[in-house]
Amino acid sequence: LSSRRRYRSYGTSQRRLKSASCNHFVNCDRIEPSSPAPPSHPIAKPFRLAVKDNIATAEFPTQCASPILRSHQSPYEATIVSQLRARGATVVGKTNMDEFGMGSHSTNSMHGPVISQLSTDEPLSAGGSSGGSAVAVMLGDADIALGTDTGGSIRLPASYTGAVGYRPSYGMISRYGVFAYANSLDTVGMLAKEAKPILDLLVDTNLDEEHDARDPTSLSAASRRRCAAACPPALGAMSSLTIGIPVEYNIAELDPLIRKGWAAAATALEKLGASIVPVSLPSTKEALCAYYVLAAAEASSNLAKYDGVRYGVRGEYGDAQGHTLYSEARGAGFGPEVKRRILLGTYSLSSEAMDNYFIQAQKVRRLIRQDFDKVFRLENPLYEPTQFDLSDMDAETDLQDKKGPPQVDFLLSPTTPLFAPKLSNVLSKSSLEAYMGDVFTVPSSLAGLPSVSVPSRVAESALPLGLQLIGQHWDDKRLLGMAERLK
Ligand code: GLN
Repeated sequence: LSSRRRYRSYGTSQRRLKSASCNHFVNCDRIEPSSPAPPSHPIAKPFRLAVKDNIATAEFPTQCASPILRSHQSPYEATIVSQLRARGATVVGKTNMDEFGMGSHSTNSMHGPVISQLSTDEPLSAGGSSGGSAVAVMLGDADIALGTDTGGSIRLPASYTGAVGYRPSYGMISRYGVFAYANSLDTVGMLAKEAKPILDLLVDTNLDEEHDARDPTSLSAASRRRCAAACPPALGAMSSLTIGIPVEYNIAELDPLIRKGWAAAATALEKLGASIVPVSLPSTKEALCAYYVLAAAEASSNLAKYDGVRYGVRGEYGDAQGHTLYSEARGAGFGPEVKRRILLGTYSLSSEAMDNYFIQAQKVRRLIRQDFDKVFRLENPLYEPTQFDLSDMDAETDLQDKKGPPQVDFLLSPTTPLFAPKLSNVLSKSSLEAYMGDVFTVPSSLAGLPSVSVPSRVAESALPLGLQLIGQHWDDKRLLGMAERLK
């Protein structure tokens, strides 16, 4: 953003962005209509909402930070935007991000990188891909920001910038109007300075109860009722809670100060009365590989529609037969990281590689979900409880496993292994190194479980660290309640 560009929001006169240098908003010369429909929800409170630019809004362009969508203006808005407007939201702007959500530092953007509001001498990474949303709430430009989290894109920027970042249970929030990256993983969630306003939206306005018939993965009303009935209604006393510390997350690459902050948080919860127990999630170490196979495979399919005909900007010289037209539109329209994912995904779905990559990754995904289900006190409401057949030796081992680890309410881990890096370091390193930053966030993404990153501090570091809480499917309200206690 040039410092001369201003942006206006509904009900206020022109005002300058608090920090134009963070590059966290895009297309800020647009404004909301002067008289948006009044909030229709019985419990509506006015608040300012920033929306990640892969979530459709009718009044602002929706470009996913990609040149291929540079002239895209959605004719409709995403369900979640309408739902929040009904609850009192005013959209203050669209936020910068990694192109189509692919990245961990919000640097893969046609608008240039997002810069963390915590930067002092040198620009720091705001995390990605919802980095613009994280910075918007931390600077006070919005009360709540919408983000999307496929493999960590809400939690990671929250961790780097000191925000609270919440990824809901898969199937809770409608994806209608959200531009798909990897649709079996894509989840719409929220960032804010504190957990409270997000929790209030669930508890006071029942956001978790609304099914959307326009999203086939939005849980039906009946399933929602069944899932809600399976979860305890309230968090209860700390002394009744057990928190698991997943030992596989204590990796050699973990920054010692983050390890210290993690241990301190566990000790603080123990002092409040909770039981802290180590747990094992053995398939965790395969999660990152499985995620990058599955996410790229789905991306290659989801992004096929941007061909310069149905969607996407058409090249200048395309012939009518389509060959040059497709390659030109896609060649010029996608950035290098998106092209890399499309190529990787197309390969892993090809007949020669399918069995070794895509199918294996799906199997790993299932093992990861089973690891979580074994340690949680609550059954996963989406699946039948495990039936053990004692005549079968393997099943006996399973039973041992189910009985073995303590049954926990939540899991506590760091959100990221490292503090926010300098942007100059990020830009000079390979994509593979950015993928490493997702190591703690992808397991719960693959399992579709609710997770929240809560900011914390250690005395020796000027930068915040993120602590991640993971809960059983649909246990979101208790999870956010726990996030509040962790602060
Ligand atoms: N960094 C991960 C990726 O690039 C996660 C992105 C996301 O959650 N949207 O795929």
